[in-house]
Amino acid sequence: MGSMKLGFEESQSPYDSGSQSARFWTEKWVEKSLYCPNCGSLKLDKFPNNQPVADFLCSACKEEFELKSQKTKFGTKVVDGAYGKMRERIVASNNPNFLFMNYSLKAMGVVDLFVVPKHFFIPEILEKRKPLADTARRAGWIGCNILLNQIPESGKIFFVRNSELVEKGHVLSQWQRTLFLRDETTAAKGWLLEVMKCVEMIGKREFDLNDVYAFEARLSGIYPNNQNVKPKIRQQLQFLRDKGYLDFVGHGTYRLRSSD
Ligand SMILES: [Zn+2]
Repeated sequence: MGSMKLGFEESQSPYDSGSQSARFWTEKWVEKSLYCPNCGSLKLDKFPNNQPVADFLCSACKEEFELKSQKTKFGTKVVDGAYGKMRERIVASNNPNFLFMNYSLKAMGVVDLFVVPKHFFIPEILEKRKPLADTARRAGWIGCNILLNQIPESGKIFFVRNSELVEKGHVLSQWQRTLFLRDETTAAKGWLLEVMKCVEMIGKREFDLNDVYAFEARLSGIYPNNQNVKPKIRQQLQFLRDKGYLDFVGHGTYRLRSSD
């Protein structure tokens, strides 16, 4: 891990276009330098080009990854492919994990890189875009945006942040910390992820039930048909305790487990 370098290989790109060259360099970098956040394997294999499902595969544990890379920092949303197909994949949970890389062509290297594990993808984080106009070549086609701001911080696991490497052990434990979500249905995950976001917004490692109840109106707004928001909150906290995400320390006080 200490030997992981952030710079792209200085090899010549076979492409003339800037964006194709960037794609070439970033993919090469992932293939050569990135490790698997699930099992720690030191190598990710590239799928053949135009593989419809994903870009990279860990041959040790079979996790799949799709790479999204761009020069500018990722904002609240990221443009993705066809809405219908993406939604179908999320519900069937055969979507890959997503790598989001922000690179610099001036420094010829990685600036930020995080992975969103596939179990954080629920239909609510997809935004349907307007159908393409009748004059467009693919008239009527509907794309989607991935709403990064709807994903809890625990679902954005950084390998590199501000051009600095995050320790590998930390990355691997961050990944393990939320794997329990894979066993849950998309419906159950909706509530869990919302409560996890509320807990993150409290901004303290130790908090009490009233801190979470303070988000009752927000949760009622998201789930207007639920008349029992407070019991639902307690249920999610119990579940998160059972899964080792947080601990009950008594008297209505909770503490987030450290991921180190
Ligand atoms: Zn692996």
